[in-house]
Amino acid sequence: MNKENSPLSEQVAKLIRPEIQALSSYHVPDASGMIKLDAMENPYSWTEELVAQWLDTLRQAELNRYPDAAASRLKQQLRLSMAVPEDAAILLGNGSDEIIQMIMLALAAAGRVVLSVEPGFVMYNMIATFTGMQYVGVPLQDDFSLQRQAMLAAIRQHRPAVIFLAYPNNPTGNLFARSDIEAVIAAAPGLVVIDEAYHAFAGDSFMSQLGAYDNLLVMRTVSKMGLAGLRLGLLAGHPQWLNEFDKVRLPYNINVLTQLSAEFALQHHAVLDAQTEAIKKDRQTLFRELQKFDGLTVYPSDANFILFRVPAGRADAIFAGLKAEKVLIKNLHKAGGMLQDCLRVTVGKPQENAAFLSALKKVLA
Ligand SMILES: *Cc1c(COP(=O)(O)O)cnc(C)c1O
Repeated sequence: MNKENSPLSEQVAKLIRPEIQALSSYHVPDASGMIKLDAMENPYSWTEELVAQWLDTLRQAELNRYPDAAASRLKQQLRLSMAVPEDAAILLGNGSDEIIQMIMLALAAAGRVVLSVEPGFVMYNMIATFTGMQYVGVPLQDDFSLQRQAMLAAIRQHRPAVIFLAYPNNPTGNLFARSDIEAVIAAAPGLVVIDEAYHAFAGDSFMSQLGAYDNLLVMRTVSKMGLAGLRLGLLAGHPQWLNEFDKVRLPYNINVLTQLSAEFALQHHAVLDAQTEAIKKDRQTLFRELQKFDGLTVYPSDANFILFRVPAGRADAIFAGLKAEKVLIKNLHKAGGMLQDCLRVTVGKPQENAAFLSALKKVLA
C-alpha cells in the first residue's frame, strides 16, 4: 500500500490541523533493563509493610462507582500538606500537565499569547500549540537566570494572557531570583502561573504570596516527590479564576485509585520527606563528582536533576555511549539553542548515581 498518496493519508492531511501535523508526540524512550535517570522520578519504593497497608486501604475502592467528583477529602489533605492559604481555591488535574491544558483551554482565542522562557518546560509550548494559543519564549541569560528587561519588554509587546514560570526551572534546575519574578507578576496584564513541580527539592515557594496578587496562580504536582504513577497535580489561586478553569475540567478526572492512594501517601508523608532529603544530599555528591570531570560545565540545581554541558559536538555520542552502558539520561542537545551540547541526569539511588558516573568516565575517556 502506498502510504504517502493513499486516499486515507490525503484525508488525514486535509482534516488534521496543520499545527498538529507539525508536532511530534511526546516521546518516552523504552527504559527496560536500564538504570533510569531520565524522567525526574523518585527512585525509591516503599517498604513491604507500607505497601501492605496501602493495598489494605484500596479495599475500600468502589470501582463500580464514579469517584468523588470534587475529591474533597484529598483536597483538604493537600491544602494542609502544601500550606495552601485558606482563602485560595484548589483545582486538581490528572498530573499538572492537565492543569496547564485546562488553563489554556479556558484562555485560548485568536491572537492570545502564552509567554514563558527558553529553555523552559516543553509542555507550555506544546499545549499552547494544540489549544490554539500563540507561544512566545523569552531567552534566559547564559547562567539561566531571568533576563528581567527582556521579559518586561516581551510583556509590553505581546500582552500575554498567561505567563508560565517553572520555579525551579526545568530543564535548567535553578530558581529564578524572587525579585525578577515579582517584577514579572507586577507587569503582567494577565495571569502568572508559578509551576512548583520541584518544590520538594527547593524549599522556596510563592504559595504564601497568593493573597498578595490577584493574577498569581501556584501549581504543584506529586509526581516528582515520589508519586509519578498516580498522575495528580494541583493548582491554587483565587476562586474566581479556578471556578472558570473548573468548567473545562472533564468530570471525574481524578480516579478512585489515585484519590485513595494519594490520601494514603500524604498520611505517610514522612516516608516521602525522608526520600526527598536523601535525594537532596545525593544531588550534592553527584554535583561535586560531575564537577571533577574535565571539560564539563555543571549547572547548580535546586531540583532532583542536574543539567551539564559536554564538549561541543559530543552530546549525542556521550548519550548513546551511556545508553550502551545501560544508563538512560536525557539528551537535550537536539532541542538546540542554549541547550546545545547539554545532557540532564536525574538524581537516583547512590548506587545508580555511581553507575552513571563510572559509565560517564568510560564514555568520556
Ligand atoms: C514534570 C513537570 C511537570 C508535570 O508534572 P505532572 O504532574 O507529572 O504532569 C510540570 N511542570 C514541570 C516544570 C515539570 O518538570
